[in-house]
Parts: sequence; structure tokens; C-alpha cells
Amino acid sequence: MRLVLLGPVGSGKGTQAKLISERYNVPHISTGEIFRWNIQNNTELGQQAKKFVDAGELVPEELTIKIVEDKLASEECKNGFILDGFPRNLVQAKALEKMATIDKALLIDLEEEEIIKRLSSRRMCRACGNSTSVDWLVDGKCEKCGAEVYIRDDDKPEVIKNRLKKQAVPQDVVEFYKNKNVFSAIHATDEIEKTYKLVDEVLKTI
Ligand code: AMP
Repeated sequence: MRLVLLGPVGSGKGTQAKLISERYNVPHISTGEIFRWNIQNNTELGQQAKKFVDAGELVPEELTIKIVEDKLASEECKNGFILDGFPRNLVQAKALEKMATIDKALLIDLEEEEIIKRLSSRRMCRACGNSTSVDWLVDGKCEKCGAEVYIRDDDKPEVIKNRLKKQAVPQDVVEFYKNKNVFSAIHATDEIEKTYKLVDEVLKTI
């Protein structure tokens, strides 16, 4: 399975990517997670990406495309991958075309009002990386492992607005995949498993 997940920030594509990865045993490649890991560990890539990620801006192409190229060329991805957060524009989509043939580009869509609601209540677990909601915590701690949670810097209200403005799914990327006959779209629901069912119906057509 060579899958691209498209969707606005907060649509739940990361959560769906993790489920697909577990259930189909395909590696989940999230460019956002790669940047966050590098920022936390203060690597050279992290230092270069930090100001863009913190501001809700796209990280420059030369950094982003290179990390995807390296990942897709690795042993881990030789039988497939789920790309989450890449491509975010037509330049990236065309670069990806040179790296691999995509079986499906699936858009998980959601209205802006709902996105703002979700991102404002999103919390991340420091220990297990679970992306959760303030409503699901148990005694203020991660409902999966009981560790402390935090708010992503780029989930703060002023940055959310910038991400929504600068990081909407571009129509030319949608057209690019439609022209290749690999595009599908679903609407996110308010339940993870309900959305997964819709995702899985699409995956079964690959
Ligand atoms: P995400 O976790 O996908 O919301 O990504 C978090 C942040 O990482 C984004 O706001 C961007 O700053 C950066 N980022 C992730 N993927 C890309 C990409 N494909 N191109 C440029 N920047 C990206």
C-alpha cells in the first residue's frame, strides 16, 4: 500500500494514519512528527525547521523533500507507506511522483469551525505520543498510559489561524491526483472508528 493522506490540520488524518499503520502493518510517515522529533532533540534539522513549525508556516521544500526521499528509500518503506502531511503543495506532489507510484490519495475533510474546536482541545502525551483531546483525559492525564500531556506550540490559537490560512489542501494537489485516477475523499466524523470505517472502505478498493 502506497498511500497519501490529505486533509486540513486537525482533520484527524494522523490518528487515521496510525490506525491504518497498525491494522495493515504499513509504516506511518508523518513529516510533522519527524520535524517535532528533530526539534525536541535539537538536531541540525530541528534547528532549521523550528521557526517555521512554531509559526505555523511550511518548512522550506529543500528540507522537507529530502527527509521524505530518505525515508521512502529506506528498508522500512520498501513494501509501502502511509504519508501523512506530505505532499502539502504541488511542488511536493511532483517531487513525490519521482520517488514512488501512489496507489491512493485520500482526502479526509472537515469544516474550519470544527477544526478550530478540535485543535483547541488537542493534547499530546509526553510519554507515548498519543494525540488526544482534553475531553478524553483521565484525571488530566493521558487516557492510554497515564503520563502528563501538553499542548503543541502550534495548537495555540494565533498559530492555528495561520496554519489554516497557509496550510489548506491546495486544489491543484487534488486535481493532480484526480488526473491520475487515484483520488478519493471522505468527510471526517466525530468518532475515530466511524471515520476509520469510511477510510477502510476506500482502502479496500486499492
Ligand atoms: P503536522 O503535524 O502535519 O500538522 O505538521 C506540523 C508542522 O510541520 C507544520 O505546521 C509545518 O510547519 C511542518 N510540516 C509538516 N509537513 C510539512 C510539509 N509537507 N511541508 C512543509 N512543512 C511541513
